[in-house]
Amino acid sequence: MSAAPPQSQAQGPSSNFLRQIIAEDQRTHKYGGRVVTRFPPEPNGYLHIGHAKSICLNFGLAAENQGTCHLRFDDTNPVKEDIEYEESIKDAVRWLGYDWGAHLYYASDYFDRLYEFARHLIKADLAYVDSSTPEEMRHLRGTLTEPGRSSSYRERSVEQNLDLFKRMKEGEFPDGAHVLRLKIDLKSPNINMRDPAIYRIRHTAHHRTGGKWCVYPLYDYTHCISDALERITHSLCTLEFQDHRPLYDWIIERLADAGLLQRPLPQQYEFARLNLTYTVMSKRKLLELVQGGHVDGWDDPRMPTLAGLRRRGYTPEAIRAFAERIGVSKADQWIDPGSLEDCLRNDLNERAQRRIAVLDPLKLVIDNYPEDATEACFAPNHPQQAELGTRTLALSRELWIERDDFQERPPKGYFRLAPGAEVRLRYAYIVRCTSVDKDAAGNVIAVHCTYDPETRSGTPGAEARKVRGNIHWLSARQTQVAEVRLYDRLFKVPYPGGSKQSAGTANVTTTALIAGTVDEETELEDSAERNFLDDINPHGKRVIEALVEPALSSVEAESRFQFERHGYFVADLRDSRPGRPVFNRAVTLRDSWGKEMSTHS
Ligand code: ATP
Ligand code: MG
Repeated sequence: MSAAPPQSQAQGPSSNFLRQIIAEDQRTHKYGGRVVTRFPPEPNGYLHIGHAKSICLNFGLAAENQGTCHLRFDDTNPVKEDIEYEESIKDAVRWLGYDWGAHLYYASDYFDRLYEFARHLIKADLAYVDSSTPEEMRHLRGTLTEPGRSSSYRERSVEQNLDLFKRMKEGEFPDGAHVLRLKIDLKSPNINMRDPAIYRIRHTAHHRTGGKWCVYPLYDYTHCISDALERITHSLCTLEFQDHRPLYDWIIERLADAGLLQRPLPQQYEFARLNLTYTVMSKRKLLELVQGGHVDGWDDPRMPTLAGLRRRGYTPEAIRAFAERIGVSKADQWIDPGSLEDCLRNDLNERAQRRIAVLDPLKLVIDNYPEDATEACFAPNHPQQAELGTRTLALSRELWIERDDFQERPPKGYFRLAPGAEVRLRYAYIVRCTSVDKDAAGNVIAVHCTYDPETRSGTPGAEARKVRGNIHWLSARQTQVAEVRLYDRLFKVPYPGGSKQSAGTANVTTTALIAGTVDEETELEDSAERNFLDDINPHGKRVIEALVEPALSSVEAESRFQFERHGYFVADLRDSRPGRPVFNRAVTLRDSWGKEMSTHS
């Protein structure tokens, strides 16, 4: 297969507000010509197509500007993280075609500095240890319409705070006994600015720092400082962080004023998350699908994870083209999966070689064809790319055709085989249907026909006689059995659970975060009308035994083909074996959601 250039379907980068901002910063030399972005996943799940948007954006913008993009694991939460996730994230980013080079970082590498910076903030009377109970903190925090009030602990002296913070670190107190909070403004209309917690006590080992710490910094505090320490220029994140931006700036400005961080400081910009209909992208829900056995793992080809899309047959090129096609904006983004599938079709239409598979075989007997003869027919590997050559299909008396390419009582407009009707066997002859064999139950078990020797494809004049039907076939003498997995959408409704909010990616609420007592990112109250699991498409996966060209018996894993008239298929990355190929349907030839796969032309 000749590799097409990666941008084969991109129409060249179109402008977007981030490209414009960076171009302007380059023009004014704001960062001395540097463009440094980062992709900061939390290693608590596999990456999905939404993350791909962020990866393409961050790595793409850096590359366009001869800059660098860092991969940074946001591993501040000791309980949720996992090495398996970390490896899967690196694999996914590399697979998409991006390279972080030497720039692999971990937020946990900054724990010492974050701790020192927190001590600095205490000394500057910008942070204090609060020992209120979670209920008291919630109560004093106020609401969107009501200002917050201070706890008595807000007036602790610098010495007391330094002492308590040190003892928190040394393990003297149980989880939840104290938190370290910034001293900003309890009356701020922005709840994020009402003295957010920046450290909490957690007696839990961390997968990278082991038992060294029992106080862990919270996301908002860690993230902006990590950006600044890495000299990030443009810190791109999703819209739910818009209201955190004043806090982001507040923290790094204070630390830069103290000479602890270098200017120019990074600037945060927000863009809309990608959501796809007919799937879910919240990590919690994806985990539930995996743990509940509703799918066959994180890389199940129905999953919106990059590992799943890869097994489904997606190419990195198709995903990058999709990211470019959907663009970046600040508006809520719900995309139909048809748009993603289209990008894959465009890519594979150019690159995938053609093969024949008979998914639901029915015997066809050419009664006037010699019993022992076989004859080589030549099929192009690609209809538009002659340089890819041809392959040989052996015609013989007995063939396999698709069951639905024959109809005993054809409906109007049916141009394939039917009693008395003529079709062309692709790359071979025109045949006329003469009779059928049936079993005791009256099912058609074989179709008989005669062929016209004057009509062989490719011989002069043979194509002159036109018939409307053109069906594919395999010789009954030379076939390879293959397992074929026909995948469809994971959910049968656009918004699993019943609403956009229940179907969308995790939104972050900050109220729990201020108390610092709950997990820092808690999803908003789920507005689901019903359990999203009830919306799983029961027909999302169908496994069949099919027949394929003999040469496919030793196909390499991940080779992609167009099975003529059926769609694009990939040899399964995990399960395909020599002599026992397994193919996953990546995408049909046309958008056929809701129709059965059996509508051939
Ligand atoms: P969590 O709730 O676990 O934080 P998350 O989806 O935010 O989930 P992260 O690992 O924090 O996952 O995400 C890494 C980066 O990918 C972040 O910068 C985030 O904004 C971005 N990202 C996540 N989901 C999407 C999405 N659907 N569309 C675009 N970007 C996304
Ligand atoms: Mg996140």
